[in-house]
Formats: sequence, C-alpha cells, structure tokens
Amino acid sequence: MTPSSFWQGRERYTVFDTQHGDGSRVAALVEAWRRDPARPAHLHIVALTEGLLPGFHRVPQDDDAVTLDLLCVPLETALAQLSARIDFAYVHGVQGAGFARALARLVASDAVLAADALDDNQVAALAAQGFVFDEDKSGARFASRKPRQPLPAVPPRHAIVIGAGLAGCAAAQRLCARGWQVTLVERHPQAAMEASGNLAGIFMPLLSKDDNIPTRLTRAAYLYALRYWDSIGGIGRAIEGAACGVMQLARDAGHADASRAIAAAGSTPPEFAEWLESQEAEALLGLPAPDGAWLFRQGGWARPGSVCAAMMAACGERLVTHFGVGSVTLERVDEEWQVRAADGKVVAQAPTVVLAGGAASGAFPQASQLPLSALRGQVTHLDASTLPSLPYVLCREAYLTPAANGLACAGATYDLDADPALRADSQQENIERLQALVSNPEAGRDAPLQGRVGFRCVAPDRLPLVGALPDFEAAGSTERLRDVPRHPGLHSLLGYASRGLIWAPLCAELLAARLENEPLPLAASLVDALDPARFVLRARRNSRAPQSSSQDFLA
Ligand SMILES: Cc1cc2nc3c(=O)[nH]c(=O)nc-3n(C[C@H](O)[C@H](O)[C@H](O)COP(=O)(O)OP(=O)(O)OC[C@H]3O[C@@H](n4cnc5c(N)ncnc54)[C@H](O)[C@@H]3O)c2cc1C
Repeated sequence: MTPSSFWQGRERYTVFDTQHGDGSRVAALVEAWRRDPARPAHLHIVALTEGLLPGFHRVPQDDDAVTLDLLCVPLETALAQLSARIDFAYVHGVQGAGFARALARLVASDAVLAADALDDNQVAALAAQGFVFDEDKSGARFASRKPRQPLPAVPPRHAIVIGAGLAGCAAAQRLCARGWQVTLVERHPQAAMEASGNLAGIFMPLLSKDDNIPTRLTRAAYLYALRYWDSIGGIGRAIEGAACGVMQLARDAGHADASRAIAAAGSTPPEFAEWLESQEAEALLGLPAPDGAWLFRQGGWARPGSVCAAMMAACGERLVTHFGVGSVTLERVDEEWQVRAADGKVVAQAPTVVLAGGAASGAFPQASQLPLSALRGQVTHLDASTLPSLPYVLCREAYLTPAANGLACAGATYDLDADPALRADSQQENIERLQALVSNPEAGRDAPLQGRVGFRCVAPDRLPLVGALPDFEAAGSTERLRDVPRHPGLHSLLGYASRGLIWAPLCAELLAARLENEPLPLAASLVDALDPARFVLRARRNSRAPQSSSQDFLA
C-alpha cells in the first residue's frame, strides 16, 4: 500500500511516518508525488526522527506545495501533541499497543495504514479503534462508526495585513506562498520604519535547565528562522547581516555553573550551543571572558529591514501594498473587515485581517484589552574603528555587533517611558554596559549621540500572540482556550518583544497553517502558549486571586 494509490484528486494529503530513518521513504514519496499527474495539490509529510534537537521541525522545501515536518519526540508525544488530520500512516518499529487510540484520534475517516511486523496485540488494539486489516495484516483502512468532526472551512484566500514590520511581512509571505492574495497596509511610506527599522538585530537561541516552554518555543523559532532565511536568499546574501556566531559571556560564576550543568546534560550539540571555559572563549574572542561563555555558531545579526524586503520580494504578484496611508482603523461591515484611512476612506476590505501593528496595536479597539506594553529601547551606533574588532556578536546583558559599513551597534536599553528622541542618559547606559562587555573602561567614551529609538511590543509573559483575537466583552466565564469567543476573521501577530527576527517566520507559518487547517508546525502545548486568548483565561483567574504587582516582562 502506498499513498499514491489513494491521493488522486485531493486538495491536500497528509502522510504520517513513525520512522523517518535515512529519509529515503520521504524522498521516494515526494518523487512519486512530483511524477503523478493526478497528485494532490499539497503533500504534507510528518515523520518521526532522531538526531535533531528535541521538538517539531518544519523544514522548508523547494516547492511550497510540499511540507515536511520532522518530529524529534517519542511517538506518544507526537500523537498527543500533533494537530493534524492524517490520511495515510506508515507504522514501523513501534513498541507496545498504546499508540492505537492516539493514532485513531488523528486519522481521517477514510485513512489508510501501512505497517511492518505488527504483533497480535497491536493489530487487536488498532482493530478496536476502527482499523480494518487486510488478510496479511500489512495494511488497514480506517472505518470507524464515529463520525469525524469536520474541519472548519478555509476562508476565501484574501487577507489584509496591517503593519509592514517583521511580523506583517512574514505573514504576507507565508500566506502568498499558499496562494493567498494579500493586501499589506502600512502607515509609513516604507516597510520597517518602527521597531523593525534597526540597523542590526541579533539572533540566537535561549537555553534553560528545565527546557521550559519559552526555551522550547525559542528553539523552534530559531531553527525554523535559520532554514527559512536560507529559503528566501540567505543571511549575508539577499539579507544584510552575518551568520558569524554569537558569543554570550556568562554573567558571573553562578551563571557559569548553571551553564555547565546544561552543557553536561548533553542535549546541546556544539553547532547549536557550545559551552566554552574562560581560556577557550578568550582565545576565540581576543577579549576577556572571565566566567566562560556560550558560543552559538549559527547565530549572528541581520538588518530587519532587509529581512522585510526579502520576504516581500518572495511574495511575488499576490502581494499588493498600500504604504503611506497613515494610521488605519478597522471596522466589521457585512461579514468582512474594512480597513479605513483617517479620512474614512476604505483602503481595503477582506474577510481576514492579520493585525501586525507592533507596539501601536493597542490603538485598535479590538486589541485594546490585550495586556501589551510598548517598551522603549535605544541602540547606540558607534564608529567601529574605535572599538575592538569582533569575530562574533558579543553579548551579556547588552550586545555589541561586529562592524558593518564602519558602524557597530551597542544596545539596547529597556525603558518604560514613551520618549521617541535619542537621549544622552540612554546612550550613557549603553556605553557603560559596552565597557563592561569588552572589559575596557575607555571603549565608546565621548562617542557622539548617535543611534535609534524603537518600541518593542511586549506581553507580560514575553511570548508572542499568534491566532484569532479574543472578544474580551463576549468571553463570559470561559475556562478553556477553545471556548473563548473570537473576533471573526481577525488574527494577531503581536508581542515579538526582543526577538522579532526569529519569531516572525515561525509565527507567520503557524498562523497561515491554522487558516488553512494544515498540520501545525508546533506541539499543541506550545501553540496554546502563543494563543492570544490565554490572557482572557488569565484575567479571569487573576480576578479570582489576590492581585499581584509584579511586572514580569522586565525579568
Ligand atoms: C531597541 C531595540 C532593539 C531590538 N533588538 C533586537 C534584536 O537584537 N533581535 C531581535 O530579534 N529583535 C530585536 N528587537 C525587537 C524587534 O525589533 C521587534 O520584535 C520587531 O521589529 C517587531 O516587529 P513587528 O512587525 O511586530 O513591529 P514593527 O516593526 O513595529 O511593525 C509594526 C508596523 O505596523 C505599523 N502600524 C501600526 N499601527 C498601524 C496603523 N494603525 N495603521 C497602519 N500601520 C500601522 C507601524 O507603522 C509599523 O511599521 C529590538 C527592538 C528594539 C526596539
């Protein structure tokens, strides 16, 4: 039994494979798909693998009509955390029979199963879930009496994206790649003039001892971003920047001890994150690194504006831009959304809107109850010839980028005020941190006031908000995310805080996959952690609990 015998004429066909192995089965499947004139419009392959970092990995393919997800998790986790409707399952090398129920939950009503050497218990468990086997037990058809919940309808493929920063440009690209018409609306005459307008943003993963949700999410976003940027031209080529590596100095002896413990656990291959003791780090850096350092070899810096440009270029003709229209507003009219300019003129109308307005998004009444803060940041631009030349981006509490066009960027401050002007006290803060970073009290001294101010859009848990916007007014006493009422067709890509470069590709991909009812690129628990409706549930819990004054976004 092979998928090609069943996929004819389908819009989308999803194959699940319990064993990616050397990849030859996936390669053969894609080849068969390519050669078949009756192939489904979209082939989605989800395969379990070993040898990658833990988690779900969406691997961009040359052809947008093929999607490959490699899941480096145990089978039970994969089946419990996967959001997908499986049409064909290869079951190989599986232990026990406990997987049968979880697999049955995910398969389509006419799904097909191909299996190797199932034992009697496994056959019985699958049969009990509704799989009807061939005589030789190598294949089965799903024929459950319980009807499957129909998937929600895919909306007409036209979206308005508000905001042409990293979030909005990535949304436009991932939607255009799926055949959507996208109208990208921006108040400024060009893309990337707000938070995404910095000369350099750095990208690197986040590590933690307990591999908590932010760490897992950041890892997934970082790894997806590295692959994604390659697919749209690459850092240092289409995208201005350098994948030169990031060296993160340990803050103190305690941080170094915690880092050693993470390194000793052996879950960080050196190309991802390598712990270096002081001498090794200093030899590579040419500067003091008294407590040791992490080296993230695939990390680096990029100019966010050039990432936006590369993403817009990859959209092709399906993208229409309306830039320089001033601050728009949003109104629901006849089952669609109207985006209007300040003079009331309709700029665009569509059933789907993606709100990617960054720190200014609270001005939209539909988003005004989200607990988002605009966190000021000032970066200092320095004449690079006055600074040590760096082989890597260097960071600790602050960062310093290697020279590009004669300038190095040092930053950035975290301020609670709304002052858009460059300030001497913020510059002083950056310079003092820089001096500590490079162990030189003269570095950057007397530098002219030069740099840029931007505003990060930050949620209390510092995680992005990806998905349909909750309707706070209508929420009632809802207890579960899936029961929270939403504004129909209104989605957010917000809250990218200090990691917009890496959040943008994965969050856009997640949103686009949801709109298309595709298998999702992240484990369900991580998808939930990004759901904007989490704040509806938290607001309810907080209203029942004693009030806390903590502002954890500053942690
Ligand atoms: C000082 C500083 C340093 C940073 N350093 C890094 C770093 O090293 N690495 C990293 O990854 N990230 C960094 N970030 C964060 C990163 O810049 C942001 O996360 C990212 O740029 C956010 O992108 P965005 O598209 O959400 O928002 P923005 O880039 O702000 O885009 C939102 C767009 O929406 C438009 N808009 C808003 N409201 C309306 C409206 N009503 N009508 C029309 N248009 C509207 C705005 O004009 C804007 O262009 C830094 C941020 C700052 C401020």
